[in-house]
Amino acid sequence: MADTLLLHIDGKDAASSDGGTFEVRNPATGVPLYDVAHATAQDVASAVAAGRAAFEDRRWHGMRPRDRARILNRAAGLLADRIDEYARLEVLQIGRTIREMRAQLARLPEWLEYFGAVAQSSEGTVPDFGEGYLNVVRRVPLGVAGLITPWNHPLLITMKKLSAALAAGNSIVIKPSELGPALPCALAALLEEAGVPAGVVNVVTGLGGSTGRFLSEHRGLDKLDITGGTETGRVVAANAGRSLIPVTAELGGKAPVIVFADADIERTVAGALFAAFIATGQTCVQGARVLVQRDVYQQVVDRLVERTRQLRLGDPLDPRTQIGPVVSRAQRDKVAQAVDRAKAQGATVLCGGRVPDSPELGHGWFYEPTVVGDVASTDDLWREEVFGPVTLVRPFDDEADAVAQANDCPFGLAASIWTSDIGRAVRVTDELDVGIVWVNDHHRIDPGSTWGGSKDSGIGSENGWDAYRGYTRPKSVIINSSDRPFDWFATTDDLRYS
Ligand code: NDP
Repeated sequence: MADTLLLHIDGKDAASSDGGTFEVRNPATGVPLYDVAHATAQDVASAVAAGRAAFEDRRWHGMRPRDRARILNRAAGLLADRIDEYARLEVLQIGRTIREMRAQLARLPEWLEYFGAVAQSSEGTVPDFGEGYLNVVRRVPLGVAGLITPWNHPLLITMKKLSAALAAGNSIVIKPSELGPALPCALAALLEEAGVPAGVVNVVTGLGGSTGRFLSEHRGLDKLDITGGTETGRVVAANAGRSLIPVTAELGGKAPVIVFADADIERTVAGALFAAFIATGQTCVQGARVLVQRDVYQQVVDRLVERTRQLRLGDPLDPRTQIGPVVSRAQRDKVAQAVDRAKAQGATVLCGGRVPDSPELGHGWFYEPTVVGDVASTDDLWREEVFGPVTLVRPFDDEADAVAQANDCPFGLAASIWTSDIGRAVRVTDELDVGIVWVNDHHRIDPGSTWGGSKDSGIGSENGWDAYRGYTRPKSVIINSSDRPFDWFATTDDLRYS
């Protein structure tokens, strides 16, 4: 990897217009990795203009959907060949373990393949307009979309948005997180190698408060699509509102893991551990509230704490490591403060709750996987997203109590239900105010399966046909097939006009 990562605008790599850069450090060691170009307002304007020019001359959306799909499939093949290289780069910049990143990245080609197939099978409608008319409603691309992505799954989230946007024929400008900027630039080059024309995919790296703000305030966009924290989502959605353009916002979460007494306890504890601590807890659907039916509460909590204590922290490049560092010093401080505040509000730390003292972890931003009990509904830990390796446990009495506790949350992204009673799983699912429910599982995702939340978790969805449609708009063509003359002002007869 080059010492300085550049912007990618109109098919060319470029330094920022004022030469500014920022630094990315390895969160496991604190060692600087590379400098990254910091895009100015002028660079963002150039990227949007490049996307607009590519859209207007139809170099991408003018292709048949089948030809776009062929190119996306070629890109999927190129990506599959680079998984090991990209997984290593992800580990270095965000500290997630190599085992997780290999597993996650190995699936990314599926998004390009899936949305290529959707583009080929997308159909318009022919509403019945009545005698003498043929009405054809086609779905057409929007134009230029701004994609703003977070650091926790840098490539996965970019891929979710980009695949739908490109398959539908749009141009895009990507603003990756300042903590995970390496791969969108490489991805833009890969897509062009596969045949996506220059100017269709542009990348502006930079900080959220400057580059991100310039992009979301730019009036030349036709859509904004953000994944990030809820407060950032509100700012970006407000900017979209000012420009009267659609917004998709995938935001925070505080997912409940609801464990009924009839569940297989060992399997459920393994599931809760997976829900809470994969990605060092830094996922929007993290199992952050483990709710356990009172009859088995102590048994589940004891086993969860025992298994949490056994998790191996270490070098994320070592395939035996199970838990990497938190992404940055600021994020680790936020995690530590959330646990300290919970303690001050009366909670009990059942395990973890501190920075590990082992010397080999001393240079990175590690935090011990933590389970917290005795958390009240008024406590910050119950309501606020921590985005780190911290989960809480709480008992419930029956289905109604489980649902009430699960829904007592500002977020509505996801939940998992653990039970051997399928009827109960369906009943509880119906009552949960969330966008995604797993039964006897957690974290599973598929390019064809809608992903999005309610309440403070955002607007709209990724994946599946909904996401594709969200990158198109309807265009209604009304064809007069009558051979009868029509002259409204030549007569006073009652004529049909609406
Ligand atoms: P942030 O909200 O900090 O940042 C998200 C993106 O927005 C980054 O690219 C950031 O840039 C940019 N940004 C920040 N401020 C602005 C601004 N004023 N205008 C425009 N862009 C801005 O989130 P994180 O990166 O810390 O990601 C974690 C959050 O993302 C969590 O809340 C998590 O729940 C959520 N998330 C949601 C998912 C979902 O599917 N619902 C999936 C994954 C994460 P920069 O990084 O440079 O500051």
